[in-house]
Amino acid sequence: MKSYQELADKWIKGNGEEYLDIDPADSSHVLAKIKIYTKDDVKASIEKAMSKFEEWAKLPGPKRGAILLKAGELMEQEAQEFALLMTLEEGKTLKDSMFEVIRSYNLLKFYGALAFKISGKTLPSADMNTRIFTVKEPLGVVAAITPWNFPLSIPIWKIAPALASGNTVVLKPASKTPLMVAKLLDILSRAALPEGVVNLVVGKGSEIGDLIVSDDNITAVSFTGSTEIGQRIYRLIGSKNRMTRIQLELGGKNALYVDKSADLNLATELAVRGAFSLTGQSCTATSRLIVHKAVYEEFRHKLLERVKRWKVGPGTEDVDMGPVVDKSQFDKDLQYIEYGKSAGAKLIYGGNILSERGYFLEPTIFENVTLDMRLFKEEIFGPVLSVTEAKDLDEAIRLVNAVDYGHTAGIVATDVRAINEFISRVEAGVIKVNKPTIGLELQAPFGGFKNSGATTWKEMGEEALEFYTREKTIYEGW
Ligand code: NAD
Repeated sequence: MKSYQELADKWIKGNGEEYLDIDPADSSHVLAKIKIYTKDDVKASIEKAMSKFEEWAKLPGPKRGAILLKAGELMEQEAQEFALLMTLEEGKTLKDSMFEVIRSYNLLKFYGALAFKISGKTLPSADMNTRIFTVKEPLGVVAAITPWNFPLSIPIWKIAPALASGNTVVLKPASKTPLMVAKLLDILSRAALPEGVVNLVVGKGSEIGDLIVSDDNITAVSFTGSTEIGQRIYRLIGSKNRMTRIQLELGGKNALYVDKSADLNLATELAVRGAFSLTGQSCTATSRLIVHKAVYEEFRHKLLERVKRWKVGPGTEDVDMGPVVDKSQFDKDLQYIEYGKSAGAKLIYGGNILSERGYFLEPTIFENVTLDMRLFKEEIFGPVLSVTEAKDLDEAIRLVNAVDYGHTAGIVATDVRAINEFISRVEAGVIKVNKPTIGLELQAPFGGFKNSGATTWKEMGEEALEFYTREKTIYEGW
């Protein structure tokens, strides 16, 4: 592919208005002009996915799997190109981009291999001449709606299990990161995925989202994004006359608790990495630190020493943190920083804009953040960390649970009792012990609790296949 514009022209075939896909590290750097999909284009994409369903579903699982395995191999060979585009389009550092690309091609291979063994089970019958067994079937056309912060791996952890199971797909990525998905379609096509099995639609969710979700030909919707939009989709699907299956993975307000038994050097490293890697723009980011009062002062000192060495700059350079993704998220982060100051929290680090050319912010830390403050309760999705002191383990667990979200939570401790209390009492879909709240492995299932997800279906792991299949039970007599 010669240029990003060629990539866009080949794969993003909307007939609507144009917008500019911009590098967040340099707002004058236009990567490509993107043409958005009109309502007619969206309908045509859904129809195309329907027309291809029978052919794709009939293809034996091992043959579908071979295509995913090939796509994984091709992506591995072109990993550098994928990582560079990710950094230019989303802003994360090249190291973080490469990490995501590696996870992405491994996801393709993982679900490619699983496609060889998707099956039901055989059960004993009370009748002599009867065999009972089940088969797994695809659902039909599924819609995958994805955010910008993991612009490659989230689309893949939806479409790879969907395709492995025999579904066709309508994929709507965030309009901030369409090129990344165009590049994915390019790889899938070169791996011999038949045209029309995955259909891209690009445009504002507020304009075409309802159309996708409410279409009766869409049998399932897998959505990852904000809690606000997830709840809207949940209501919309509830009002349909059709039973559309829905999977929601939503926002977070993740806490890391530093116990009095913690190794404070480890705690400091985990706190800074968890809060500021990926510019805080991860659903698993550490947004709140809860610190036991016995170690508060010593930990605070170490935290401030460590964050001073956190380098910010364009993701293509040797830095720890790139820019904020775009102006709207940048303005939102700044508003939260101003709010924090006016609400009485104490700004102990950062808070400043680092460059006007791109959307660069200092890593920012507030202390004395109390339960009633928006800083404590609301997802910011930027490099802003709140610190709250807890008098003991009980209070710490209460504070961790005192928000509407329940995505990930972490504890840094050596005391086994504290660790096990935390594991059993904290309401979160993923618990990390002496590990950063960020970072998930693809073979393990994950999904948020409370308002961080619908809790009905897990993503990743073998469990992801459950969402994309239905099970038919057969009683065979003779
Ligand atoms: P968003 O909710 O604004 O958008 C997500 C997707 O939904 C985009 O493709 C968007 O265009 C689309 N959309 C918007 N309005 C829609 C509508 N009315 N109907 C259908 N689709 C619509 O989220 P975002 O800003 O792209 O991403 C950040 C959010 O995603 C954060 O809240 C973050 O926590 C969350 N997130 C969650 C996970 C997880 O696994 N739980 C992972 C990554 C990000």
